Amino acid sequence: MKKLSVLLVMCLGLFSCGKQDNIASKEGFLSSDIVALKGANWPLGYTIPVTIIDDSIRLSGFAHSKRTTVAELVEEVKESMNTWSKFANINFEYYSSPDDIPEELSVRPHVRITFLESKGNWAYVGPTYINKKIPFNMSLEGIGNTSFTRKATMVHEFGHILGLAHEHQHPDRIVSDDEIKANCKRIGFNEVGCESQMLKTHSSETAVILPYVANSIMHYEIESSAGTEGVVGGSGFFTQGDAVAVTHLYPGRFESTEQFEKTYENALADSIDEFNEAVQTKNCFIAKPSYCPKDAPFQIALKMNGTPLMKSCVKSIRLSINSMNSWKFCH
Ligand SMILES: [Zn+2]
Repeated sequence: MKKLSVLLVMCLGLFSCGKQDNIASKEGFLSSDIVALKGANWPLGYTIPVTIIDDSIRLSGFAHSKRTTVAELVEEVKESMNTWSKFANINFEYYSSPDDIPEELSVRPHVRITFLESKGNWAYVGPTYINKKIPFNMSLEGIGNTSFTRKATMVHEFGHILGLAHEHQHPDRIVSDDEIKANCKRIGFNEVGCESQMLKTHSSETAVILPYVANSIMHYEIESSAGTEGVVGGSGFFTQGDAVAVTHLYPGRFESTEQFEKTYENALADSIDEFNEAVQTKNCFIAKPSYCPKDAPFQIALKMNGTPLMKSCVKSIRLSINSMNSWKFCH
């Protein structure tokens, strides 16, 4: 049987995960990309059990260090997995501990998350490589400072669970190889990590290649002359392109286009609210007002002491790689 190359899917490039220089390419992983790897799909309608292992949120001390609670982090995990299942004909079911998963389900592939030290944020791609022999198959170690940034990374990792690979590894990507190499250095990837996580592109032989989505949640932020503000990807938002892709890959959730559009509008409105909540101390806000044109639907607003300094309609919303403290539009 043809051996599939393996992809250790690491931290979303948007966010400093802190451990990216430790990226290791492990043998035995499956490579897949809205590029979606072939053979990395779950059966339609399948319910994927999800659990957090070893009481790892509490033991990591992460909740305490970020002034949040274990319960809130669990809620963020649930919201992130359901971001996809609102559109994909797949369900996720959260269990408080591995022991709570019924025996008949626990022997099948299921998501086992750790918050303890595990070399950054990553997840296996698709069900094939998620099996019981592996202690955990998603790492959310040190995942982010705000609910918005944490959920952006969680949604990205659940995208991998559904079989999606990195969108910047799409064969039609608009960033150049040289730009990608420069960004590998900036992010801290070694040569092996750079090749497997960023540079290598997928082909139709091994992946289902849907139209390229530059603002996909699966696309790292890459400094590039192809971007209108010098950056491509890394929006931090679950975008319409993501919703369309997963609706295509796992069809059956919607009876009409209108139903899909309404669901997406609601999901986006929630994300925008959360984003604004995350950056409120920065006097930097986004909205999606009706008067912005269709090709630049988002409004960016900067305020100083409550007074608007700038408002403009933009094509997409991007976040800086480092943290919410350096959101590029705010500087
Ligand atoms: Zn990834």
